[in-house]
Amino acid sequence: MKIVKAEAIPFAIPYAKPLRFASGEVHTADHVLVRVHTDEGLTGTAEAPPRPYTYGETQESIVAVIDKIFAPQILGLSALEREAVHARLERTVGNPTAKAALDMALWDILGQAAGMPVSGLLGGYTDRMRVSHMVGFAPAEEMVAEAEHVRDVYGITTFKVKVGRRPYTQDVQACLALRTALGPEVELYIDGNRGWTASESARALREMAGLGLTFAEELCPADDVLGRRWLVAQSPVPFIADESATRAAEVTRELLGGSATAISIKTARTGFTASQRVLHACEGLGVEVVMGNQIDGQIGTLCSVAFGAAHRTTARNAGELSNFLDMTDDLLAEPLAIENGTLRVREGAGLGIDIDTDKLARYRQDR
Ligand SMILES: [Mg+2]
Repeated sequence: MKIVKAEAIPFAIPYAKPLRFASGEVHTADHVLVRVHTDEGLTGTAEAPPRPYTYGETQESIVAVIDKIFAPQILGLSALEREAVHARLERTVGNPTAKAALDMALWDILGQAAGMPVSGLLGGYTDRMRVSHMVGFAPAEEMVAEAEHVRDVYGITTFKVKVGRRPYTQDVQACLALRTALGPEVELYIDGNRGWTASESARALREMAGLGLTFAEELCPADDVLGRRWLVAQSPVPFIADESATRAAEVTRELLGGSATAISIKTARTGFTASQRVLHACEGLGVEVVMGNQIDGQIGTLCSVAFGAAHRTTARNAGELSNFLDMTDDLLAEPLAIENGTLRVREGAGLGIDIDTDKLARYRQDR
């Protein structure tokens, strides 16, 4: 089952409502569709979302690194030789979403060849995940209205609130308004995308002590090494490392160094193979994990839920699987549906990614 072609197709789909947070904002899904073809006629599919403000990748850089470096290195290898593929990809530093998409496309091929869903191959723990919805920057009353809408329409009762603006007059007030409006039954946690200082974070956590937050994520930069450790030591809830600890080695370093006490896993940046390494490191060290969202489209979300539902530890907390709701359209022939606050893994062999060819023709940027 030799790899005969690896394609990187740039596409752009506008958001109905831009997502705003401390480290950036997103108006258009400028993603890359990645397809790996074998000599037996199987095609593995995944999606790479560039996040220049987090990992330095752009849509153009993802296409270039796949076309010019990765594809020539992996052509001729068997799609089953994932470790050999990774050994070649790892000759190049960085480019996490390009590598992750190639990895997930190979798993898609593996599932199709075996006649099994990828989620089953990965672990097969359950067939669905509870969904957590991300509430981006807006005036507090708009954030409340969005959360109420998402709760009423999709049954979602877990919300990740973006913080990292002016801590006491904006963020704490927004969290207070959300808790007051939504009541005690919803789960709330916060993500600062490194927008606060350690001291602002400590004071904000004290001011929100009565809000029953579940987690706090990347409130201040991990590069503020001692300040971050000082903050994490006094955090009343698990402190999630997201963009500061992506690979298993970084995760181990940050956890052992006291800069985090929980980890966000994103298949968009570590695929399935490296996400399992991160997950197993976390299980070995005994810390909680959350399935995060790299502002994925529906293809990326399908990959996240396949991984999250596959393992007991990742299925325990709600996964961030709803960012695609803000996109005006998508490439999947059969759109994802969140019902009763949960998203199901797609049945059938592989990942179940069926691309609508008309939509791909409409949104691709290379023709
Ligand atoms: Mg985050």
